[in-house]
Amino acid sequence: MAPTPTPTHCPYCALQCAMGLLPDPGPVPVRVEGRDFPTNRGGLCRKGWTSADLLTHPDRLTAPLLRGPDGTFAEVSWDQAYDTWTAAIRTAQQTYGPDAVGVFGGASLTNEKAYLLGKFTRLALRSSRIDYNGRFCMASAATAGNRSFGIDRGLPFPVADLDAAHTVLLVGSNVADTMPPFVQHLAGARAAGRLVVVDPRRTATADLTDDGQGLHLQPRPGTDLALLLGLAHVVLNEGLADSSYVATRTSGAEDLRRSLATWWPERVEGLTGVPAGLIRDVAVMLAERPRGTYILTGRGVEQHVDGTDTATAAINLALLLGLPGGPDSGYGTLTGQGNGQGAREHGQKADQLPGYRSISSDRDRAAVAAAWGVDPSVIPGPGLPAVALLRSLGRPEGVHCLWVNGANIAVSAPAAAAVEEGLDRLDFLVVSDIFFSETAAHADLVLPTTQWAEEEGTMTNLEGRVLRRRRALTPPAGVRSDLQVMAAMARRLDAPGSFPEDPAEVFEELRRASAGGRADYSGITYAAIEAGEAAYWPWPAGGTPTPRLFTDRFAHPDGRARLVAVAPHPHRHHGEHGPVVLTTGRLLEHYQSGNQTRRVASLAQAAPEPRMEIHPRTAEQYGLPDGGMVRLTSDWGSATARTTLTEAIRPGCVFVPFHYAHQGAVNRVVGDRTDPLSGMPEFKGTPVTLTSLPEE
Ligand code: SF4
Repeated sequence: MAPTPTPTHCPYCALQCAMGLLPDPGPVPVRVEGRDFPTNRGGLCRKGWTSADLLTHPDRLTAPLLRGPDGTFAEVSWDQAYDTWTAAIRTAQQTYGPDAVGVFGGASLTNEKAYLLGKFTRLALRSSRIDYNGRFCMASAATAGNRSFGIDRGLPFPVADLDAAHTVLLVGSNVADTMPPFVQHLAGARAAGRLVVVDPRRTATADLTDDGQGLHLQPRPGTDLALLLGLAHVVLNEGLADSSYVATRTSGAEDLRRSLATWWPERVEGLTGVPAGLIRDVAVMLAERPRGTYILTGRGVEQHVDGTDTATAAINLALLLGLPGGPDSGYGTLTGQGNGQGAREHGQKADQLPGYRSISSDRDRAAVAAAWGVDPSVIPGPGLPAVALLRSLGRPEGVHCLWVNGANIAVSAPAAAAVEEGLDRLDFLVVSDIFFSETAAHADLVLPTTQWAEEEGTMTNLEGRVLRRRRALTPPAGVRSDLQVMAAMARRLDAPGSFPEDPAEVFEELRRASAGGRADYSGITYAAIEAGEAAYWPWPAGGTPTPRLFTDRFAHPDGRARLVAVAPHPHRHHGEHGPVVLTTGRLLEHYQSGNQTRRVASLAQAAPEPRMEIHPRTAEQYGLPDGGMVRLTSDWGSATARTTLTEAIRPGCVFVPFHYAHQGAVNRVVGDRTDPLSGMPEFKGTPVTLTSLPEE
């Protein structure tokens, strides 16, 4: 009889493509096959196809490593690891107070781990200092969604709804490289010649508009907000708005109308470089009915100091057109990390408790305290968002003992060189990972953890649909799950409340803690997902799942969406360097800091080193040959890369992927200025100088 594949989902991005894991007699004990599911329909990208290579990789960590007095690591028992860490926590808190201990989490953790990490920090560590790497990649869209809609679910509709779309405006997202199976959902818009891609680079996604399949708008980096204001101006001034929808389903229209008065297309052309006629054409295209129109945004919109306002401008445009909640239309933002949605709902954020509750609300604190079986006064108040948390490392009032779990901040954080200095100032650093990362190199204690095919749990995909991650393999001896680690440490720290090791038990608690919150999971069960239910939150106990939000009302108390007047920030910092602008992003072959994918041979071979895309005219200006080495320098640091001359990028702009650590992580060059509303750093838009380097 043929073996039955273990049904699960890809360990990488937020599309969470469905796959089956089959036993295999080869050196890797399981083989990946694509599995039919509405998001990927059996398709996987090359990261998904090769994901099983991670499971038996020789670099795998299989025992706790403790740094000795001579600076070298040695394997120790789990008891010794726990005891040493517990002593370090006690020493830091006795010396500096409870907030001297902190946690930095990740958006690839399962819902169960993310939930328990928030609880562990507040109850076992008794600290407010927790935040996570989702602050780097979704915080601005989340803040904008909460402000405009009263709720934050990346896509408030199933991905498959896009199949019927006639027009799609895709701003700042390179899905053809970052989540290739998603592209099949754009087929209808492409066939109609109405896929509009906005990106300063001629990306693989922009190429989808070739041959009359749509339009590519190539604004100057950092000017998306002006472009969106220009589109909204045309919609209002040329009578293209859905006035009935605006009158009955939104508030703030008059303020918005006044704020848009001066954003005529010719002015916007001067700022963005996008021709005024094209701006008018796209506005008309978006407004044409009756076929479906969708507006989708990605990190290109968000990773700026005005990212929340830029995402808000996209939402305003969608609301003026009457798209959100429509039967065949909508607005959504494409989450990037594997559990980017779920990991921001259950308490890893500095200001948040499970169920997307506010840590500053007495009502929310009381609800969560009841679920945890503690008095609300036990739960600390808000902590520090990621960048502020990292700036505080080793400072007198800051964090002195840090646990990094599910992130590689020495590569992925902005101002990465300063982050590494902060890590070295710490009294004690603990890093949990499956491989020895660049962050682990700064640690005092490294803990080996289970990975995707070795554990049970849930992930919430970019649609807000909760999925089951299933165990197909036994983890190596010596490896512990994060739930086991938290349970053991909670016992040593005499924590109030329960810290189960069993994911199913944790999920049951998560359900109770989220009941009545904005992200209500109380009706979702493992059994329901196993039975094939499409588990979109909110799904309250006794109710039904919600595949489509906003069909009747928005989540604000009056049921209306907010139109919020926004404008570009007047003082965009350009430092003393320039005039070339650095933008960063992802490649098809790699994921996040590359700590996993750089170890997969075929992926590493396909994209072995950072390449800097630069327009030939800009390269000539700086004397940079094709394939030569270049140093990028900013106010914050420097890194090197090899050049690729291409007309796919605007003159005056360069692109470097952020997956690499050798030759210096490009995030050493990126500054740590943040959006004031979301705390999200400006990864896209760093002024740099370029210096040609001789070959070594
Ligand atoms: Fe995995 Fe994302 Fe690729 Fe799908 S698109 S196989 S989820 S990395």
